[in-house]
Amino acid sequence: MATKITNKLISLPQDVSIDRVVDHPHSMEIFISCPDTERLCPVCGSPHCVIKDSGRSLTVRHVSVAGKGSFLSFHVPRLRCKQCGASFSARPYFVHPSMKLSAAAFLAACVGLTGTRSIRDIAIDNGLAEQQVLSVLCSVDFRKPPSLPRTLCIDEFKGSSGSYDPDSHRWNVSRFHCNISDGGFGCVVDVLPQISLDFLLSYFMDYSLEERRRVRFFCCDMHGGFISLAKRCFPDVKVCVDMFHVVKLLNDNVSDIRRSLQNSFRSRGDEESYQLLKRSSRLLTTSSFNKETYWGTSFKLKERQLERVLTLSNHLREAYNALQEFHSILQEPSYSEQRDALTQWLSTYSASDCDGTRRCAGSIRRHRSYIQNSWKYGKSNGPCEGLNNRIKVLKRNCYGLHDFDHFRRRVLFSCGHTKLIRETYTNALELAGKERRDG
Ligand SMILES: [Zn+2]
Repeated sequence: MATKITNKLISLPQDVSIDRVVDHPHSMEIFISCPDTERLCPVCGSPHCVIKDSGRSLTVRHVSVAGKGSFLSFHVPRLRCKQCGASFSARPYFVHPSMKLSAAAFLAACVGLTGTRSIRDIAIDNGLAEQQVLSVLCSVDFRKPPSLPRTLCIDEFKGSSGSYDPDSHRWNVSRFHCNISDGGFGCVVDVLPQISLDFLLSYFMDYSLEERRRVRFFCCDMHGGFISLAKRCFPDVKVCVDMFHVVKLLNDNVSDIRRSLQNSFRSRGDEESYQLLKRSSRLLTTSSFNKETYWGTSFKLKERQLERVLTLSNHLREAYNALQEFHSILQEPSYSEQRDALTQWLSTYSASDCDGTRRCAGSIRRHRSYIQNSWKYGKSNGPCEGLNNRIKVLKRNCYGLHDFDHFRRRVLFSCGHTKLIRETYTNALELAGKERRDG
């Protein structure tokens, strides 16, 4: 059969013939004749079905054509099963079995859902109704994953979604949700409505001990709950604490000391020192390895300003040095050098007479083995943090998602294993391929 270019353009199979097209102001109605396909009984699966009567016409939504929504109108006969006697309307193979959608429209909605746009936008793009896109979303069943990833990344994120309680007519909303990601493949495995330890324990304890033993790395922040979860659920796991959170701890320490110093100068009426400290929040938290790139032409000026700030207080200077020395530990070339440098760092700052710095050193000492694990095995919570960012974009585009069940489905659609399209499309590459074939 010669390829019918029109069928290809509007995503219809080759064996369908287009009878006529009626152009409505906001949509296209495409009248088609369906091929006679195999008649299978939906009740018993028997192929022995006969035509019962002339049937009825059916209209289903199709993909958008030239920027307009389109309908397919066709006639289907009514059939009767000779085996079990059931009567039913024939359903062509290119139409969704239960929804009033063509298979191409269903797939287009699924592809739309793998992005981060709102349901309404996806509906407008594909010439569908919002309710239909929502039905597509709800028709896909994301169950609890049967197995756990080898590198399990876990993190919390702000959600404000929940479930509706019909008895009290209220939404039970939890402020934080939990993101469980696969660090190896960089995709979300599951999203949980709560982050309480009891909830997480009951979730992971559902898996067999054998399955839990297969998890080799557990990446998290310094949140105590996650670490005790790892110890109780995963007997053989290597816990890795993400470096971002350790550096943030030291950054926050510098900022806290600067802020309290700045306020004490103001209450003493020293406006100049107050202003100087207030302006230097960025200067103090810039890593010495980034100074030249970030400061550029004003490097010398900023260095002088930094030195002036540091002469104001010994505690501030100590906190600044602690941060900078930690940055240089991260730059050490090998694990053993990093480990030795950390020992040195801890012995210097654990005995600090500044409360904040001592507290930071104590916290790092407590999590030392987990921090070293992340250096030794090169693991970080990066995939999880990146996916959290994508979830945030999704939430913002949808102006918040109230229902947790919908929220979870959308996250698993757009950040999960499902990959329905190529990332980007280049026709140059395809044309080059054609030339190769021709030559
Ligand atoms: Zn039957």
